[in-house]
Amino acid sequence: MRLLEDKIRQDGKVKEGNVLKVDGFLNHQIDPMLMEELGREFYRLFADYNVNKILTIESSGIAIAIEAARFFKAPLVFAKKAKTKNIDGDVWSSEVMSFTHGKVNTVIVSKKYLGPEDRVLIIDDFLANGAALNGLIDICTQAGAEVVGCGIAIEKGFQPGGAELRNRGIRVESLAIVESMDASDGSITFRH
Ligand code: 5GP
Repeated sequence: MRLLEDKIRQDGKVKEGNVLKVDGFLNHQIDPMLMEELGREFYRLFADYNVNKILTIESSGIAIAIEAARFFKAPLVFAKKAKTKNIDGDVWSSEVMSFTHGKVNTVIVSKKYLGPEDRVLIIDDFLANGAALNGLIDICTQAGAEVVGCGIAIEKGFQPGGAELRNRGIRVESLAIVESMDASDGSITFRH
């Protein structure tokens, strides 16, 4: 998506450790007009799939996911990072290794908000190794919900998550795919 690539080129900062910082429009300050366009694009891509629920993970996925949810006229559920290890029986839960923080989080979704009647579009801001998406897919599997696909704002195509998910037959649509990035000179190239 040209609009998103231009924004990444303008505002994105390449950090050591394969981290792309987009604090200016997505991860700290949020550009709501851009979020609306991302939501519109996810709707265009998945409009024929009878999506009746959007699922993301707190916190950075929420801004994009709420816009997608508005287009689908479907509720948005965000998986929460559990505060304690004592998870009660009323939630689906999965372990997710955080790419940016390097620690394992238990993420939970209440059984009230996800079940076998749901056709789920999973949305997230970044796709790197796929841990976040795999955790959300695992939660959907536990709930008996169907994952119709995953919508990602920025995929880092040089990391393995996207290829692994697609090889498993999961539809993954990323609106910008970073082919390469270099912290030494700040350069970013995109895959088309
Ligand atoms: P994965 O689980 O696919 O390895 O990483 C995806 C998650 O880690 C996303 O939810 C996102 O919050 C975070 N993440 C991964 N790579 C980046 C990055 O380059 N920049 C930022 N801002 N977040 C990232």
